[in-house]
This record gives sequence, structure tokens and C-alpha cells, in this order.
Amino acid sequence: MSKERILLIEDEADILSMVRLRLESRGFDVLTAETGEIGLNLISEHQPDLILLDLMLPGMSGLEVLKRIRANRNIAKIPILIVSALGEESDVVIGLELGADDYLSKPFNMSILVARVNALLRRSRPEGVEESEEAEESEDFLTIGKIRIDMERYLVFVDDKQVALTATEYRLLFSLATSKGRVLTRNQLIDEAIGNDAIVTDRTIDVHLTSLRSKLGSAREMIETVRGVGYRFRY
Ligand code: CA
Repeated sequence: MSKERILLIEDEADILSMVRLRLESRGFDVLTAETGEIGLNLISEHQPDLILLDLMLPGMSGLEVLKRIRANRNIAKIPILIVSALGEESDVVIGLELGADDYLSKPFNMSILVARVNALLRRSRPEGVEESEEAEESEDFLTIGKIRIDMERYLVFVDDKQVALTATEYRLLFSLATSKGRVLTRNQLIDEAIGNDAIVTDRTIDVHLTSLRSKLGSAREMIETVRGVGYRFRY
């Protein structure tokens, strides 16, 4: 496989050079841009495999860059990892809803950054390329770790024992389990699991999730709370 290319859009020179060094040492081809405008030009020119996008940029904001990427059919599918400063959770939520794949808060640990980058790249590689063995899909069943979902009959099993879920809990579990580790915000879960027209608060989602988790028993830790943002399914 040829080198995978990562574009960093970040205006802080120190962070830019640290991240660049670390990713290059891991065998990635790294491009950098200090503004969103330059970043967008590089994307069309070089088609990176992944974009690391700082939200707080001079000029065009990170969220605007994200919007433009997702609106351009030629580049819309490129995985995007957004990077936010502490206390910008509301921007992170907007970013995820605009289609970012994952996020990191500053200051971040370099090993975690590399792990997130690798996880996103693994997900976006074409079928058959280093496919993970953890998630096994047949036509009717989805098996992840201890959890098996019978999609034909809407049944869920943990360690081969059936778990009785409500329809909403089933849809929440299904949305999370098929999101391949990406963080889903509460709004996204409401849309997917409950429906736009229902009057639901964030708190309602939390109540359903708490109940779902307790029913999952030993598999409960597979649903992770991402503070201030939403939930993620851990593989
Ligand atoms: Ca910044």
C-alpha cells in the first residue's frame, strides 16, 4: 500500500510541527495548511486520505471548512478528525452533526492522536483491505464482541442470552453498533432512533441509554459516554 496522506489544518505552528513529525515518523505523508482557505486548495489538489482539522482558525472557521468539504461531492467522503480547544464542546457537537468523523480536545496525547487517525483510516479503506475481524456481519446478524444483533427479528443477545429491549433501546443500540466507533451526538441519536417529529430532550436519550446499558450487563462498557458530546460504541 502506498503511503497514506494526511492533511493538517492548524494555525498553531508548534502543534503543527509536533503532529507532522509524529505522523511522518509513523510512515504517513503529511501536508500542512495554516488556514482553511489554503487547506481547501490542498484538498482538491492532493486528495488526502484523512484531514485533521482545527476548529479555531484565523479567517474561515474550521466548521466552515468542514461544511465546504462535505458539500463538495469529489471530496465529501474524506474522513475528518476535528480538533477543538477545551470548552468548545458545542462546536464539537455541531462539527459531528456536520459530518466530522471524530474529534480530539487540546491538549491531546500524541499516541491517542495516532490511534484515532489509524482507526479512521482503517474504517475508510476499501473492503477487504486489512478488514478488522472484530465486527462480523452476516446477512441477518451483526456480531460485535459479546453482542449479537438479529436484524431480521430485532433481537439482541449478550453472551448468547437474549436481552429484552424496548423498540427505542434496540434502535439506539443498532445506531451505535453500526456507526463503527464514531461519536454520535444526542441529536443524531434522537433522529436515528426516535424520529425527528418526536418531542425529545437530551435527557430522554440519556434515560434510554442508561436503561439500555443496564440491560446489556457485562457488555455495558461497549457504550461509552463522551462527555458534553454524546455516545460512542467501543469495539
Ligand atoms: Ca487554532
